[in-house]
Amino acid sequence: MLLPSGNTVYSSTPIYPGSHFTWGEATKNCTRQLENLVINGRLIISAAAIEQNIIQTARKMDRYRAQLGNYPITVHSWYRPSGVNRSIGGSKGSRHLYGDGVDWVSHRYSPRQIAEILEANHDQGGYKAYNKFTHTDWRGYKVRW
Ligand SMILES: [Zn+2]
Repeated sequence: MLLPSGNTVYSSTPIYPGSHFTWGEATKNCTRQLENLVINGRLIISAAAIEQNIIQTARKMDRYRAQLGNYPITVHSWYRPSGVNRSIGGSKGSRHLYGDGVDWVSHRYSPRQIAEILEANHDQGGYKAYNKFTHTDWRGYKVRW
């Protein structure tokens, strides 16, 4: 798929060189083109800025992956264009729209175990331990549900 930066990436392309996370994981196997987020005719965030968010988020996810012992992590959901977010009933302000929200599973630790690490570390966004996965985002300020 073609990114706003002009780079062409494939599902297996690391989000940045050396990352354990791929563009396929961020965009559901390259089926979700990055698009401007427009609400009521107002540009909320450009596709180019979403691309940068995804790259920065991958760096943070790689840091958590290392802190969690380098065990594999499976991404359930990352970037969602607004049409997708609406169709799955995502919240209007979902950080998945911005490219910095990720739902994921560690192959070694449960969401409750992960929460113990995140509670002390995750001060630039939100996280939530669901039964089967963890949501994390980097919205810029600490939030919990
Ligand atoms: Zn989520």
